[in-house]
Amino acid sequence: MTYHSSKRKWRSEKLSQLGSSIFSEVAIWKGEAIQSGLDVINLGIGSPDQAPAFEIREALSAAVLRADSYSYPSSKGSFAFRKQAAAWMLKRFGVEVDAEEELVALMGSQDGLAHLALAICNPGDIAIVPDPGYPIYSGSLAIAGVKPWHLPLLAENEFLPDLDSIPENVWREAAFILLNFPGNPISTEVDLAFFVKLISLARKWDVLVVHDLAYSEMGFDGYRPLSILQVPEAIDTAVEFHSFSKSFNMAGCRIGFMTGNREAIGALRELKSNIDYGVFDPIQEAAIVALELAMEAGAEQGVAPLYERRRDAFVEALAQEGWMVPVPKATMFIWAPLPEGFSNHSGTGSSRDFARDLLLKTGVVVIPGDAFGAQGEGFVRIALVEEEVRLVEAAKRIGRYLRGEMIGPFFII
Ligand SMILES: *Cc1c(COP(=O)(O)O)cnc(C)c1O
Repeated sequence: MTYHSSKRKWRSEKLSQLGSSIFSEVAIWKGEAIQSGLDVINLGIGSPDQAPAFEIREALSAAVLRADSYSYPSSKGSFAFRKQAAAWMLKRFGVEVDAEEELVALMGSQDGLAHLALAICNPGDIAIVPDPGYPIYSGSLAIAGVKPWHLPLLAENEFLPDLDSIPENVWREAAFILLNFPGNPISTEVDLAFFVKLISLARKWDVLVVHDLAYSEMGFDGYRPLSILQVPEAIDTAVEFHSFSKSFNMAGCRIGFMTGNREAIGALRELKSNIDYGVFDPIQEAAIVALELAMEAGAEQGVAPLYERRRDAFVEALAQEGWMVPVPKATMFIWAPLPEGFSNHSGTGSSRDFARDLLLKTGVVVIPGDAFGAQGEGFVRIALVEEEVRLVEAAKRIGRYLRGEMIGPFFII
């Protein structure tokens, strides 16, 4: 008996379309930097470095100790969780949603973002996604066989999407348009008028608006991000993703929810009921406490002030080193155009060359902008996920790097 080895690839073609390769490359560079003895300051992946509030951890541990916490949870989320999430939507945004039909729990918003296209589209459909954008936006389309139409976020438009630039035939054929304000990697924020326009276009062309609001609690200088569901009747044509990862420092817990249009909610709920058995009940209970605390407290008690202080310290320290970067109004990211003249130091002058060279010479990890799409070239994303002193230290190293003063003093002895 002979076997045709050509058949045995055990790797789908779709995997190559998932575009995670730059993040693996950065991980390899980071390994090299550690190998060479550098003290690494990781401003790469956007994973919060703080713990959830004590009361949240307390609720989690109490529920973990209860013997009745260990059966399969419900895939769509417990009614208590959905009811609390709906109550928070009302308190935080003044938006009324039905906890039964218009809200579904997720194993992190990534879970919902990854599966939504599979639940609501057919292969060959079109979806409009931002470029640069959070990687799973395009990834989910590859998984579902949906064709992306990339809406560029350009510096000359202050990184706002130009909705009027979307051709009529794209609007006509698109199943959904996915946007993200305040965004990752670019923390653009919008006002309600922008959402009103987006919803009215979507309604005209019968396109679902998908809004990823992962940074709702991370607005600075008094700015509080809006829900797209604040637009009257938006629920007829929109869904919104909410995450506990950034809002409540619960990234490792894997919990979030999608709320909005009931048809889309129903489709995602149905798909997920075939794939997973939901979020561990103690985590849902901890998430309920997170929402209760948030509803009692003001914004000044949330996660924003810490990141605002870090932002100020880092942007200021970088400016002292001669690299002026835009000051974000929200999120934990700086979207920085490559410093002028850096191409004198290394390679082709690409974002990747810059990020690699910087990491290998200074130990500071940043993500090359093209990890988020072609329009990200020329930029790097810097995550404010280390303490202020470390951020200032990173800025100083970057300064020395830009002046061509090479490594030495910041080796670990
Ligand atoms: C972090 C992040 C997510 C993922 O959040 P989880 O709830 O942890 O899955 C989704 N969207 C954006 C824009 C993010 O930055």
